[in-house]
Amino acid sequence: MLNIDLHCHSTVSDGLLTPTQLVEHAAARGVDVLALTDHDDVGGLVEARRAAEEKNITFINGVEISVNWRSQTLHIVGLGINPEYPPLAEGLAAIRSGRTERARNIAAQLDKSGIYGSLEGAYTYTGAGGLIGRTHFARFLVERGYAKDVKSVFKRYLVKGKPGYAPHQWASLSDAMGWICGSGGRAVIAHPARYKLSKSALDELLLEFRDLGGSAIEVITASHTPEQSLLFARHAQRLGLLASRGSDFHGPGESYFDLGRMPELPAGCTPVWHDWNGMI
Ligand code: AMP
Ligand code: MN
Ligand code: MN
Ligand code: MN
Repeated sequence: MLNIDLHCHSTVSDGLLTPTQLVEHAAARGVDVLALTDHDDVGGLVEARRAAEEKNITFINGVEISVNWRSQTLHIVGLGINPEYPPLAEGLAAIRSGRTERARNIAAQLDKSGIYGSLEGAYTYTGAGGLIGRTHFARFLVERGYAKDVKSVFKRYLVKGKPGYAPHQWASLSDAMGWICGSGGRAVIAHPARYKLSKSALDELLLEFRDLGGSAIEVITASHTPEQSLLFARHAQRLGLLASRGSDFHGPGESYFDLGRMPELPAGCTPVWHDWNGMI
């Protein structure tokens, strides 16, 4: 059976490894098919694809788009996208400039709590493209001793009601879906168990996602318990959606699953890669 991992991050967004290092890490762990899905950025795809060719890994162009839906932030993964499709490229560029503005707001909020220098501090952790996110602030807060690790930061900082929180407007769900599908890609709703939604709101979201052209639910991911994976496998079957598998790897020591090292899809799921014949 092929080892397929369709969700991970490089230094282009908030991962710790460069695209080349990430692919080398994947090869060492026996990954056969890999999608790089940086947050709101496709800048690592060319480098990762080149590295994957050398390692005989089938590479899938990916992205993880930040979206607002009602009061929630959602993440929509695009697989097999064309990164040059102008609406996608322009939409992502707009999200990235929003991130720069949000970073200033986060830093201003941290200033109010007596934590100074966080903007410059967070930027020391960003990659060459300069995309900034909460993970970069989290690494700065760990460096300064405010928490023992990145995961612990998110319990006390950078989230609603805590120091360093800044509300933000991302893309709309329909825009993100249009960019992904219009570029020839397939849309996957990432780590759905993470969203704080009532049963009925979750159902409405899944139906809206499907109506907008959504293809798959991410069933296996680091932030799902085995029970949650089964639950979303059933949602996918019920709604006629495909199922995806991704580690959401960010780097050694910062991730729950290593690349390719997570359970297989539960029985009865139709994998999002079921018709990638000839490609994998
Ligand atoms: P952003 O898109 O800038 O709001 O940052 C979101 C990123 O923060 C996620 O992709 C994770 O990498 C990280 N993150 C959010 N919540 C947590 C958490 N509880 N533990 C660890 N990392 C988290
Ligand atoms: Mn992340
Ligand atoms: Mn995510
Ligand atoms: Mn992710």
